[in-house]
Amino acid sequence: MTPRTGLTAPDATPAAVGSPQPGARPEHASRPADPHLPDAVPRLAAAGPHPAATARQPADTVPSRPVRVRARVPFTLRRAGNRTAELVTFHAPPDEGEHIAVLFPTPDSGEPEREPTDAHAPLVRLHSECLTGDLFGSARCDCGPQLDEALALLARHGGALLYLRQEGRGIGLYSKLDAYVLQDAGADTFEANRLLGRGADERDYRTAALMLHALGLRRVTLLTNNPDKERQLRAHGIEVTATRLTGVHVTPDNTAYLDAKARGGHRLPFGRPGTEEPV
Ligand SMILES: [Zn+2]
Repeated sequence: MTPRTGLTAPDATPAAVGSPQPGARPEHASRPADPHLPDAVPRLAAAGPHPAATARQPADTVPSRPVRVRARVPFTLRRAGNRTAELVTFHAPPDEGEHIAVLFPTPDSGEPEREPTDAHAPLVRLHSECLTGDLFGSARCDCGPQLDEALALLARHGGALLYLRQEGRGIGLYSKLDAYVLQDAGADTFEANRLLGRGADERDYRTAALMLHALGLRRVTLLTNNPDKERQLRAHGIEVTATRLTGVHVTPDNTAYLDAKARGGHRLPFGRPGTEEPV
């Protein structure tokens, strides 16, 4: 039986989005490796990105095609209190990635909400794939706990999680692991990407905006501490009525990573432990 999602039915009309904003996507910084860094750096930089990381075209270089819902499949999530949700796939995402949406039903009455939720602007989380953190629970980043936090909140309040296949801030898995080598040599998470000749953050949320349009979710409450997600969604025609910050998930292995994210503009309320309940 198909669960009640409480979300607007898929829109059969082509998604109408704004033009890509100049500067919305970071430039690739192509610069030679620093001679003061260890031997691994120039070797990794010379190797270039793994082909899989560049196989897909950047979303903003491809003409718009209508993004439409392809399939909706109910499933039960052990990681979200055995809630039943829907997996949604899409026709024609501009970057040709196999992105998915997970739609959680609006909870039935009886469970008191700590705060009112806006039925017309459901909670939405854009989560970029992190195989090491999401699947293996790597403590080098905070992706796994952020995914768990989002799933718990969405199970409680309803809404949508978009799982975006842009591993390693868009540079791909192998390049991300190359960047880890550079981070272990002293570079921070953004510097390491640049040393590999890639952008500090190549993630692009235009496809996410198109997916939201296809789902009929044009007004959202965004769960994020990354202002760039909000900016990019607004630039592509999604109204972000409110932003809820995620918790801070600190481990002994990710403090430098979180510090770098804070310097990069993420709004991290340090001093507050990561919890299920956002600020
Ligand atoms: Zn991660």
